[in-house]
Amino acid sequence: MFDFIVVGAGLSGSVIAERIANDLEKEVLIVEKRNHLGGNCADCYDKNGILIHKYGPHIFHTNIKLVWDYLSKFTEWNNYEHHVLGHIENKNVPLPFNLNTLHDLLPPKEAEYIEKKLINEFEFGSKVSILELRRNDDKDLKFVADFIYEKVFLNYTKKQWGIKPEELDPSVTERLPIIISNDNRYFHDKYQGIPKEGYHNLFKNLLSNNLIQISQKTSFNDVLKIKNNEIFFNAKPFKGKVIYTGMIDELFNYEYSTLKYRSLKFIFETHPIEYYQKVGTINYPNDYEFTRITEYKHLTLQKHDKTTISKEIPEEYEKNKNIPYYPIPKNENYEIYKKYLKKANKIENLFLLGRLADYKYYNMDMVIFNALKLFEKIKEF
Ligand code: FAD
Ligand code: UDP
Repeated sequence: MFDFIVVGAGLSGSVIAERIANDLEKEVLIVEKRNHLGGNCADCYDKNGILIHKYGPHIFHTNIKLVWDYLSKFTEWNNYEHHVLGHIENKNVPLPFNLNTLHDLLPPKEAEYIEKKLINEFEFGSKVSILELRRNDDKDLKFVADFIYEKVFLNYTKKQWGIKPEELDPSVTERLPIIISNDNRYFHDKYQGIPKEGYHNLFKNLLSNNLIQISQKTSFNDVLKIKNNEIFFNAKPFKGKVIYTGMIDELFNYEYSTLKYRSLKFIFETHPIEYYQKVGTINYPNDYEFTRITEYKHLTLQKHDKTTISKEIPEEYEKNKNIPYYPIPKNENYEIYKKYLKKANKIENLFLLGRLADYKYYNMDMVIFNALKLFEKIKEF
């Protein structure tokens, strides 16, 4: 009999299973409804032999040394730093918006004047969110804030989320601050890269202990049930611990209505040329129905005479039709989430973990951090 059951073989489930097996030396069963490991971080070779990220570009970046050191035990890194251009006014300009972008888009004298004002107000090297910059009283800074808002944020956010930036939790647009420097990198964290041998191998290494058994194409509902705050495994009461990394509303049969998620459609194309675009990702805030194009060879550093790109078209999440990639950070959704959380907290041996169970827009590093934190908790339990 297993001591632990983990639902989901994404990053959250894999890290906690690795800790349980390698540190506690206990048996773990992972049930995973897809037919592969890694959840949304999964990569694979397409039919042309080009390594792609199945669910869109995944660049690992963190300032948390503990997380970096932990993951580095299971992979080497390719030291890639992500560069993104925004297709704005028919030019490809660096994103996040920084002083170089300012000079690319405004006439030289105006750009110089505004640059001085920005440095004076926020100091060189700082980061400021678009919503904060828009609240500035200075008429020139207000002008540039409105310009950036219109050209970079408004239409991209409407496409990505179906609503305007100010209708979302400010943390969403704060992910893309305005950079008061000439740093063109998309992420500024101390540690960055992509697993040298790919994500699939990273997951294989995380899950290599024989104490871990993985049952793919198996849903929570196929083997587990919750009744009167008790968990049943194959119809028998389960006294071990269950770590659940799927959608919290699905866990409780949508009892308090469904939570909202945003989904994406990925269009992959292979082109018979060495490179399709100059950098890893180009964002299209104001044109087309897709938000961005990613060319994977830039990320993976793979050499190949052809190249594969993906276009991301945002769409509403529909139960059993597409994948719930993003929880939608809005108060009304958190209110529903809290009801589910209260219900989950009544089940002593159930632990929630990850983007879907916590209903939070986590990057990979926070997912790992939380899994390591949860492990310390369950160890004592
Ligand atoms: P998931 O990856 O969703 O894993 C959950 C797993 O549980 C899945 O495999 C699912 O099939 C399984 N599951 C769900 N319900 C059940 C059930 N009922 N029964 C059985 N199995 C179930 N982060 C970064 O740090 N850098 C990036 O560049 C980056 N890019 C991203 C790009 C996109 C397009 C998206 C959508 C996300 C990106 N992220 C990025 C975030 C990253 O994908 C997540 O932080 C991470 O994958 C979350 O891991 P998880 O295990 O919590 O969730
Ligand atoms: N965003 C935007 N324009 C851009 C890039 C991002 O408006 O060119 C906003 C948009 O709301 C997006 C959020 O910033 O959802 C976070 O962007 P990020 O690149 O972090 O999105 P992710 O990679 O998580 O999809």
